Amino acid sequence: MTDTQPDFTLTPEQWHERLTPAEFQVLRQAGTERPFVGEYTDTSEPGVYQCRACSAELFRSTEKFHSDCGWPSFFDPANSDAVILRPDNSLGAQRIEVLCKRCHSHLGHVFEGEGYPTPTDQRYCINSISMRLVEG
Ligand SMILES: [Zn+2]
Repeated sequence: MTDTQPDFTLTPEQWHERLTPAEFQVLRQAGTERPFVGEYTDTSEPGVYQCRACSAELFRSTEKFHSDCGWPSFFDPANSDAVILRPDNSLGAQRIEVLCKRCHSHLGHVFEGEGYPTPTDQRYCINSISMRLVEG
């Protein structure tokens, strides 16, 4: 749980100007895009994934792996300071929500101990629409 304030803040009106309705719904209202439709689900292009809300660097292609879960999956953030983790008990499940540290926008959830052959056995399950892939 975090009580810290985001470094990057906007008013609801400014967020609406900056983001498309679909982006707003995921990033600012903790929505989830449908599986297997996000533009980065199976992308393996090299680069850096930035927060689509504030452009902070979140993940890198070198930590992305194919999980077959329907969303882009990473086994580690670009930097442990890039994201905030907090308990999310919505939908009758105990999950860990992943937020952008800089602007506190919703990115997705992190799961662990699923047996994926990665160095961390963690799966950061992140909405494509929360990120933008740029050259690293
Ligand atoms: Zn952000």
